[in-house]
Amino acid sequence: MIRLLEHEGKSLLARHGMRIPRGALYPESPPAGGQLVVKAQVLAGGRGKAGGIEFSDNAADAEAAAKKMLGTTFGAVKVAAVYVEERLKIAAEYYLCAMVDRDLGVPVILASREGGVEIETVAADRILKRPVDPLLGLRPFVLDEIVRFLDPPEAARTNLRAAVAGLYAALVNEDAELLEINPLALLADNTVVAADAKCVLDEDAGYRHVAREDRFDGTPFEIAARELGTIGIELDGNIAAIMNGAGMTMATLDQVVALGGRVGALVELHGAMAHGPERIAEIIELVGKQQPAVILLNVYFQFRPLDTIAKGLLRARDRGWLPQGCKIIVRFRGEMEQEARTLLAGFDCEMTGVFEDACTLAVKYANAAPRSKQRAAIGN
Ligand code: GDP
Ligand code: MN
Repeated sequence: MIRLLEHEGKSLLARHGMRIPRGALYPESPPAGGQLVVKAQVLAGGRGKAGGIEFSDNAADAEAAAKKMLGTTFGAVKVAAVYVEERLKIAAEYYLCAMVDRDLGVPVILASREGGVEIETVAADRILKRPVDPLLGLRPFVLDEIVRFLDPPEAARTNLRAAVAGLYAALVNEDAELLEINPLALLADNTVVAADAKCVLDEDAGYRHVAREDRFDGTPFEIAARELGTIGIELDGNIAAIMNGAGMTMATLDQVVALGGRVGALVELHGAMAHGPERIAEIIELVGKQQPAVILLNVYFQFRPLDTIAKGLLRARDRGWLPQGCKIIVRFRGEMEQEARTLLAGFDCEMTGVFEDACTLAVKYANAAPRSKQRAAIGN
């Protein structure tokens, strides 16, 4: 998931034909002539209510407001950028969103006449939701239906239609997960402009967008896991679970939860095995920092020798990277399984070859752990 700041989202939308207000990132000079809006660039909605948006009559006022806003905190996040835009003369505010609907498995368009407010507060019958067949694209009759539902003045219909089409084109061509415009502003001259933009892109499609810098959102643990070549997810339990492959990872998580356990650090080894025992030791160190009650290694490798993991565990121990009082459960299956077991002969852990047994042991020890280990500290 890559979340864009408002100004980044707007320039993305503009590439697909959506109209956006003229604007500049402070301290660039603001658009010339007329009133301005100064907007905190933070990944949060509701800036309007929380002082993240200020209206200014001229460039000097806008500059002063931008300067003041920069570096302030907005909830927990620091305002790292301030965007200054021309102030729009808004005649009506719509809500428009294109997103991939996980339940339906296709893109959907959401539209409402009640823009400019939190969409969660809008009654369901005031929101039109239309799925789009990705193979057929946004068909003209669906586009018509959306425009009819929004019911703009006759003279604005073509512009509104172009905005909806542009939004859908952006969703598809940018591999976005969500593009939400709230409000989509209708101006007195019947132009239709994205006054705000919330954009979430699919990071797994990043390679298809050369210009897109590698950005990744996550907790410090998740970012560190990614830097080690793994996929890490931070949850709130006291079991650190390290698996390989999406199937094994999900099956282990399901089994642990079904048995009444809770995972705090979930790691899918991904490509990490190719980097040898040192990398495995670093992964153990990373999950160890969460002070889990149990580290569960549940791996099945046919093409990579399991002694890599055994050696990594030994290294982690020798360096003092294993958390105090942490129980280690190892379930090995596959290539060089016997060699790996032999290496761990003198290592303090419980070994099994059986998936269910490994999960059962992990939950048993985790739930019997002292209170201090009942819940891993998040964010450490
Ligand atoms: P949010 O509160 O973080 O969603 O920020 P928005 O960018 O959506 O702005 C909040 C509200 O401020 C909008 O719903 C508009 O009513 C108002 N607003 C934002 N930009 C302009 C503008 O250029 N002109 C006018 N008149 N109102 C604006
Ligand atoms: Mn908004």
